[in-house]
Amino acid sequence: MSVNKMAVVGCGTMGSGIIQVAAQTGIEVVGIETNEAAAERALNRINAGLDATLKRGKITEEQAAKAREVFSITTDLGAVASSDIVVEAVFEDVALKNDILGRIDKLVGPNTFIASNTSTIPLVILAAATTRPERVVGLHFFNPVPAMKLVEVIKTPVTSEADVTAMVELAQRMGKSPVVVNDVPGFVGNLLITPYLNDAIRALERGVAPMESIDEVMMLGFNHPMGPFRLADLIGLDIVHDMGASIYEETRDPKYFPPIMLKQYVRLGWLGRKTGRGFYHYDV
Ligand code: NAD
Repeated sequence: MSVNKMAVVGCGTMGSGIIQVAAQTGIEVVGIETNEAAAERALNRINAGLDATLKRGKITEEQAAKAREVFSITTDLGAVASSDIVVEAVFEDVALKNDILGRIDKLVGPNTFIASNTSTIPLVILAAATTRPERVVGLHFFNPVPAMKLVEVIKTPVTSEADVTAMVELAQRMGKSPVVVNDVPGFVGNLLITPYLNDAIRALERGVAPMESIDEVMMLGFNHPMGPFRLADLIGLDIVHDMGASIYEETRDPKYFPPIMLKQYVRLGWLGRKTGRGFYHYDV
């Protein structure tokens, strides 16, 4: 089944990026947000994203203009109804995602795919919130979506090979390099990156070195494009926290348990780049 119409529920950091890339691909896409102010922010973010991609020479003026024509943002969840695929990208909260997926399930046709961009929540938990578990898959885009090539395509024990192929083809059409992964907490990327970020924060808590030095070691010594503190700020500290908490919940492996400093920053609303303050300060 080919995907020509997409809906994205939750148009924050990830949802906006997914909408931008889908629109650039020529897929008709509608984004759904909670209120007018959030919808306006999403609209501005997507237009700014298209401007930036155009400026970098990755798309032509014509492609950017076409992309702006095929996407829209609304606050009406009912807009998902005619989609071939609905991509859920709300906060990393099981109860919220289950509620949304249950509502989407009632609004779309029986063949519509419901994909989640979850970082860590097992897809089978989300699939169980719907009447179509075999059509619920993970499409795990990476941040920033327009720039990052990887999409983890998460299959569960009830996903058919044909549906895996359809998701791989969709990701490729969107210019991405999909990797098919089984439904384990954290998949591959976050299974490996979460303990690394937690260890960096614990090293800072123990006074091993200032965060700038820890970042420098990982950049100069291991050729990482950015160190763990810049990376955590880019991902969003609430997301880093929730990824660890969610994988810990499933595995009880202490290396995933969120460090105290991370918990404090999240409670203070220091969520990284998106709020102007995380480990570092940013202009917003
Ligand atoms: P975000 O906080 O930037 O955006 C979430 C958006 O969801 C907000 O704009 C919020 O208003 C909206 N939302 C909340 N409830 C909603 C509802 N009922 N209906 C419609 N919209 C609703 O978060 P994000 O960083 O974009 O993360 C979204 C998902 O993607 C999470 O599951 C996260 O784990 C995952 N993810 C994040 C990253 C990352 O680096 N930030 C990377 C990969 C995957």
